[in-house]
Amino acid sequence: MQAQSTALDTLYPPLTAVGTPPPSGSCARLAGDFTDQATQQAVFDGDVDAPALVAAARRVCATCPVLRECRTYAEDSLDQFTFLAGRSAEERATGRRRATTTQHRRTIVGRMRAAGISSKEISFYTSYPLRSVEGDAAHLATAKAG
Ligand code: SF4
Repeated sequence: MQAQSTALDTLYPPLTAVGTPPPSGSCARLAGDFTDQATQQAVFDGDVDAPALVAAARRVCATCPVLRECRTYAEDSLDQFTFLAGRSAEERATGRRRATTTQHRRTIVGRMRAAGISSKEISFYTSYPLRSVEGDAAHLATAKAG
């Protein structure tokens, strides 16, 4: 008997992690400066954040043959716990927040520039640092030209 397709069949894939982490990564076995598997596993599981151990994990990731695939997985899956591709879950979340903030600022800067307002004035009115406003204006000009 063939199973009936339901609304859940459609909804489930977008709600689950995208794929699985690459199985052949360097962290699958004892690697780098780690001297025992349990400690290494705890760091990659996100349970330990001692700076020296996190630095050791970053070095393992830096030379991992599947770093690129792992980075893609880390961003697509929105994993909230695991140390992946050289970054902790918290670092990835901070990166996403920053990207959103930058996008929001660029939208505002773009609108004000289109209205003929200078970078200095935009900085004054919005309290955005002048350097950021000028960087956004240059980015928008490049995007428009390209
Ligand atoms: S990049 Fe890092 S976390 Fe990803 S598979 Fe390789 S060693 Fe593991």
